[in-house]
Amino acid sequence: MLGFVETELFIGGKWVPASSGNRFDVLDPATGDVIATVADGSESDAISAVDAASAAAAGWAATPPRVRGEALRRAWELMTERADALAKLISLENGKALTDAKGEVTYAAEFFRWFAEEAVRGDGLVTTAPSGANRIVVVRQPVGVCVLVTPWNFPAAMATRKIGPALAAGCTVILKPASDTPLTALAMAAILAEAGVPDGVVNVLPSRSSGKVVGKMLHDPRVRKLSFTGSTEVGRILLAQAADQVVNTSMELGGNAPFVVFADADLDAALDGAMIAKMRNGGEACTAANRFYVEESIAGEFSRLLASRMSALVVGPGTDEKTQVGPLVNEDTVAKVDGLVRGALESGASAVTGGTRPDGPGFYYPPTVLTGVAADAPILREEIFGPVAPIVTFGSEQEAVRLANDTEFGLVAYVYTGDLARGLRVSEAIEAGMVGLNRGLVSDPAAPFGGVKQSGIGREGGHEGLLEYLESKYIAVNW
Ligand code: ADP
Repeated sequence: MLGFVETELFIGGKWVPASSGNRFDVLDPATGDVIATVADGSESDAISAVDAASAAAAGWAATPPRVRGEALRRAWELMTERADALAKLISLENGKALTDAKGEVTYAAEFFRWFAEEAVRGDGLVTTAPSGANRIVVVRQPVGVCVLVTPWNFPAAMATRKIGPALAAGCTVILKPASDTPLTALAMAAILAEAGVPDGVVNVLPSRSSGKVVGKMLHDPRVRKLSFTGSTEVGRILLAQAADQVVNTSMELGGNAPFVVFADADLDAALDGAMIAKMRNGGEACTAANRFYVEESIAGEFSRLLASRMSALVVGPGTDEKTQVGPLVNEDTVAKVDGLVRGALESGASAVTGGTRPDGPGFYYPPTVLTGVAADAPILREEIFGPVAPIVTFGSEQEAVRLANDTEFGLVAYVYTGDLARGLRVSEAIEAGMVGLNRGLVSDPAAPFGGVKQSGIGREGGHEGLLEYLESKYIAVNW
């Protein structure tokens, strides 16, 4: 079913078995069946990967930026040529609908194209000191060996969003993909090698012992950077570990996005946006709309229309062309979604559509709309990561902003209104790193993606994304 996909570790440009000989299973979320077994990297493999990345670091940093950019550009071309096969692979190991997987391949590849262009823009500064005594010269240098840790929800895009800027900046990397979805990461490694990226510049280390292998690397003095995407819970652990050797960190953590609809909004546009913000990737996105706040006068109509669109979605195996919503990635994820919905229903919410987990096989959960959700319900506090839209009403702009900000997270918010001044005012008042104003999708490789509060530190994409992998060196000069 899989065709040919590498399943060993990728270290120093070679496919190598785990030193322990151990392997782990990768499952098809639509059936729970094993689709592949992958080498299970250990701490000693992690050190081999750091050896390889460290040995390649000086050569890659000295490679002309244009040459680094051209390798990334070639990787974009290869991903684009192989988009269908890559989408099938993503869909197979992650479960997402093929249409979502195709969207991900385009998005993921675009990080290579964008950072191919950014590779030549590591601009510095020359100026005269205010005293006139000397010149200030600022040069940008690659931060060094980077450890990249990625989640399973966008197995290609979360990898390229880190590898693209790291390579553009002249850094070498060790990617530790999520163990639910290592195959796509290994496919990315093969593409980068084919695109001409030298041995050791990109290493991929699937492992079931994430804590141990990442901890080992963060305590190796040759590692200078950690870029992590995943839960806030794991992010906190990694920040503490990174502190031991004062490792530079970029953290993309959890979200709890509010989706605010004012009565003056274009209702059709708000529904279109809601479907994208909620259902892209089946709701398994840190940017997913997690809480819908709808102004009282339109809340009934909005809920009814959203429920009718949600219930019309075709649920099935991700790899089936007709499917619009695939299964969730694993049992834990579907059990969490089910628990949050049950909790909300027990404390007085109603399911306008969905709300009941079907019998197996596979990790399915139906598109669900809940109304009458209590303000303190866990479903409004935690990242749902599934196809469930809880709706709460509000009476005034101030109340909408207060509700939107009532969370420790601050990744993204969505605001729908026909009044531009209000839209900008509310966008400024909401504590989030990103706002979709009359738009349900914010992700764009050309824009800085990231959160405030406990949603993270740093930005990915845009020019900021490159700067995360560069250090500024200041040289005070008399000439
Ligand atoms: P998600 O479930 O959304 O993937 P996690 O935060 O659980 O989010 O995992 C994100 C990534 O972090 C995965 O690659 C996972 O294997 C890895 N990971 C999980 N726990 C740890 C840990 N204690 N130390 C290092 N990496 C971890």
